Amino acid sequence: MKDTYKILKQYFGYETFREGQEKLVDSILSGRDTLGIMPTGAGKSLCYQIPALLFQGITLVVSPLISLMKDQVGALNQAGIHAAFINSSLTANQCRLALQYARQGRYKIIYVAPERLLTEEFLDFAIHTEISMITVDEAHCISHWGQDFRPSYLKILDFIERLPTRPVISAFTATATKEVKEDMVCTLQLKHPMVLTTGFDRKNLFFAVKTPKDKYEALKEYVENHKEESGIIYCNTRKNVEEVYERLLLDGCLVTKYHAGLREEERKINQDDFIFDKRPIMVATNAFGMGIDKSNVRYVIHYNMPKNMESYYQEAGRAGRDGEEAQCILFYHGQDVAANQYMIESNKKNAELDREDLEMVIERDRERLKKMTFYCHTNECLRAYILNYFGEYGEHYCGKCSNCLTQFEEKDVTEESRKIIECVEGTGQRYGIQVILQTVMGSDTAKIRQYGLKENKLYGQLAGYQQGTLRNIVNSLIMKEYLFLTNDGYSILKCTKTSSLITEGKEKVIIKLAKEREEDKKRKHENTNSQNTLNQLGRELFVRLRTLRYQMAQQEKVPPYLIFSDKTLMDMCKKCPSNEEEMLQVSGVGQAKQEKYGALFIEEILTFSNGEKLETYDKELDEMLQKNNTVQLSGRRRTGKPEFLLTSKLKEQLVLEGEKTISQLVEQINDLVGDSDRKKLTTTKITNQLLEEEFLKEILDEETGRKKRLPTEKGEAIGLFTKNQISAKGYSYEVVYYGVSAQNYVVEEILGEKQ
Ligand code: ADP
Ligand code: MG
Ligand code: ZN
Repeated sequence: MKDTYKILKQYFGYETFREGQEKLVDSILSGRDTLGIMPTGAGKSLCYQIPALLFQGITLVVSPLISLMKDQVGALNQAGIHAAFINSSLTANQCRLALQYARQGRYKIIYVAPERLLTEEFLDFAIHTEISMITVDEAHCISHWGQDFRPSYLKILDFIERLPTRPVISAFTATATKEVKEDMVCTLQLKHPMVLTTGFDRKNLFFAVKTPKDKYEALKEYVENHKEESGIIYCNTRKNVEEVYERLLLDGCLVTKYHAGLREEERKINQDDFIFDKRPIMVATNAFGMGIDKSNVRYVIHYNMPKNMESYYQEAGRAGRDGEEAQCILFYHGQDVAANQYMIESNKKNAELDREDLEMVIERDRERLKKMTFYCHTNECLRAYILNYFGEYGEHYCGKCSNCLTQFEEKDVTEESRKIIECVEGTGQRYGIQVILQTVMGSDTAKIRQYGLKENKLYGQLAGYQQGTLRNIVNSLIMKEYLFLTNDGYSILKCTKTSSLITEGKEKVIIKLAKEREEDKKRKHENTNSQNTLNQLGRELFVRLRTLRYQMAQQEKVPPYLIFSDKTLMDMCKKCPSNEEEMLQVSGVGQAKQEKYGALFIEEILTFSNGEKLETYDKELDEMLQKNNTVQLSGRRRTGKPEFLLTSKLKEQLVLEGEKTISQLVEQINDLVGDSDRKKLTTTKITNQLLEEEFLKEILDEETGRKKRLPTEKGEAIGLFTKNQISAKGYSYEVVYYGVSAQNYVVEEILGEKQ
């Protein structure tokens, strides 16, 4: 067995590497500078910790936050690895002692705050010790471009230059923008670095947008259905935090709160209560979260819509840092838009900026808010929307967001659209959405009477429609730019250059509307958070083991998840180990943890089971999930439905012509097949097959750091080719097109024979 695998098993208790990890580890071990860009929770730490254990000398890890260092060092010590941190939380004496131990070779890994590097004491230590590697964690802090720029990170290079020999340099971050990437490579002066990017997608997160009538009721229901789990609830104001907190408390939840209005002392206590799972539910403003590395947060609920997608993805991303399933739910209400608008406009008081800059900032904020609002309205895949926003082009169907789980039907709403646009036009383009909708719906409100809109010829022309449906239509008209919503704080609907295409009947408007009564099905799906296949007995055992874990954590004064993660406990409940050897088979149990806790947990399990072999989980379901899970890794979906099927009868009806992208082809085929009990055809299924057969190749785009797929010579021979396109954000990118012969190949060879 390779040394790296031995260490992975022995110290960390895992059998396999996750995506990207092994390449990064191998690259570092070969002595090459390495930059790893992976999303939060992907497992970046192991990528430098494993090489650190194999290198001769010490590894220094530069890390920006005391809490992060503490957490990491705590986890390493739990795994039986000697590590320490040096930062301002230590007294001068403690610091001296730590360095003394380090000189004696007691630590393999030392975490250090960037400000410390150039202090005389630390330099003296570093120069006289063998340093094999310097790792820069959260390396985006080195870039002016990011939100987290830390000037002290610029000292890293000075420090490296002072060392007698240059160690291997590795750097890690979750931020993938081009500017930040360039900054990291330049400022750290990485030498021919191996750069690996695994994409921005957080595959373990489930995304949902909900528009509950009563937000609090919906929240309460969710929290009650997830009693065993830890979560964060973000509100937009301190006042809302207080209110939601009070109500949850009265409803008997173990909840705590955090916002900038609390005294520092109280904030600290509350934060610890949350981290140590004493109070596993946190209600907070966006002041909470920076540097909080609690890995077992199972859900993040936004009680109010944030002001932009950047904030949303960052805050939602605090769920599932352990890589396990977690949910990100946004409760949307139209009021949230107004509240944000108000905040943006009140930015005018910002005295630090001159007027022009200020206007620019505000304009940009409005634009971002618009995109955030679209997220709440779109009926397309939420994950695709997010990735697209950040400049990645992915699937149109992820199977793991509230939209992908809702059945939609396409509806031609050209006629309705025409009436709405005519109403906007005919009333002088000076009203907001609400007034326009009330007009076409024929509402008899004070405003409508006051504006004299009852006399308008479109008044009541869409009476009987649900407001939500019409709102959907308006939103999609805005997104498709047939209408424009002004940004100046008033949100007025205006016509655009293309409005007339609709009113003159030159174009159609098709939108996706949710089918009714799918709600129950959806809810069922959403409520099964983790792949928890434990049965009643298994869950009872889980609760016992969790209590034991909590007691141990209290004794040792560490957060429970540093002892065992939930996933590990769950696996333990399934395997019910009754001896050391079996305990080591549990995922996440390495040698050190077995020695420290194994006996206690085994004893608890044996007491629970009276020494009998228990059935603690649903084996069939488990196997199915495992199977689907591995299949999913190769790009397919985790649903119980049978595979896609194109019958020969349908194939005959398929007209292949022109040039199409793979999405267009797949859409055409899915449309032909219509609703069926089988899975839909996905583009991944086809492109993976073409990759495997070498009609496509995957290459790394140096510029964006993203993988892209291009035709090989063999692929060109069957009619694949590329075209250049410019994205809405101005990026140029290549799209693979399928000529008729390539379309034929797909239908005959890939969707053919085997089915
Ligand atoms: P990141 O720094 O990328 O946000 P971490 O390094 O903190 O992520 O890892 C997140 C979680 O994933 C940790 O709980 C870690 O133990 C777990 N993990 C890392 N690698 C693996 C692996 N190969 N198999 C299973 N779990 C892993
Ligand atoms: Mg990390
Ligand atoms: Zn989706």
